[in-house]
Amino acid sequence: MGKASRDKRDIYYRKAKEEGWRARSAFKLLQIDEEFNIFEGVKRVVDLCAAPGSWSQVLSRKLYLPAKLSPDAREGDLPLIVAIDLQPMAPIEGVIQVQGDITNARTAEVVIRHFDGCKAELVVCDGAPDVTGLHDMDEFVQSQLILAGLTIVTHVLKEGGKFIAKIFRGKDTSLLYCQLKLFFPIVTFAKPKSSRNSSIEAFAVCENYSPPEGFNPKDLHRLLEKIGSPSGVDDLDCSSGWLEGPNKVYIPFLACGDLSGYDSDRSYPLPKAPDGTYKSLDPVQPPIAPPYKRALELKKASCHGVQELEKPSLDS
Ligand code: SAM
Repeated sequence: MGKASRDKRDIYYRKAKEEGWRARSAFKLLQIDEEFNIFEGVKRVVDLCAAPGSWSQVLSRKLYLPAKLSPDAREGDLPLIVAIDLQPMAPIEGVIQVQGDITNARTAEVVIRHFDGCKAELVVCDGAPDVTGLHDMDEFVQSQLILAGLTIVTHVLKEGGKFIAKIFRGKDTSLLYCQLKLFFPIVTFAKPKSSRNSSIEAFAVCENYSPPEGFNPKDLHRLLEKIGSPSGVDDLDCSSGWLEGPNKVYIPFLACGDLSGYDSDRSYPLPKAPDGTYKSLDPVQPPIAPPYKRALELKKASCHGVQELEKPSLDS
């Protein structure tokens, strides 16, 4: 697809470039904030699965830059934003970057160290594995990323804090909802206007972090497994109706963002210059080391008739 036709087909992709966001996902976080006011009182935040960085940009523009530009700004008092991804990303003002796998305990330790004993008021996670198109499989891998996010939450989130995580809606959504409800009394699944209706993506907005009494983060997985088994449900009092009836549990689901605003599933005409032409903008920040880089190099090399990029030396 050409750049101009994507601009026409995807209004949020075009608007992201116009407003300087690295990805259209920025609008999802902004629309979640419009509905849930997630940035109120936030001074420390963790952005999990952050590359190419549009959510980190939102955090920087909403939290760090206003504090830095305020007349009574003090260096040690500025908001702390820690962003993690498998991929490296270009720098963003006020954002500390950690390159690592969020499912790895060492990454969680690095994040915790940055907080130096203090805790965050907000953890966001827009993690997505490479989607296979097999919904059950994609939903399962996605839920593993959320559970990795929840592990980090149990170490770094302040009581009363919020956790926002991308989910894929599917047959295990009720289980995930129950697992999140163990830690957050208020859990809403939200669908921002900028997230296409055709996509199974939604966001769990979890409020007022309150781990069970006497909870030890080491017991997280045992606790979550327990909720997955019918015998464990009663003692955990997750929700009435679990495993009963066609709906199992009632999950609050909310559309957010200006409902009369842009529709992400519609095409919009392109704005024309006075001479009748349209100029598509370049990406704000192309990925600096995308996983597909090597594939592009190989494709380019094969177009030039080169068989292999790096021929192993026979005498080494
Ligand atoms: N929120 C980002 C933004 O606004 O630019 C977009 C995130 S993108 C949809 C999903 C990201 O999840 C990818 O950059 C990918 O590298 C990252 N990811 C997937 N699995 C991960 C893992 N196990 N640990 C860390 N990052 C992961």
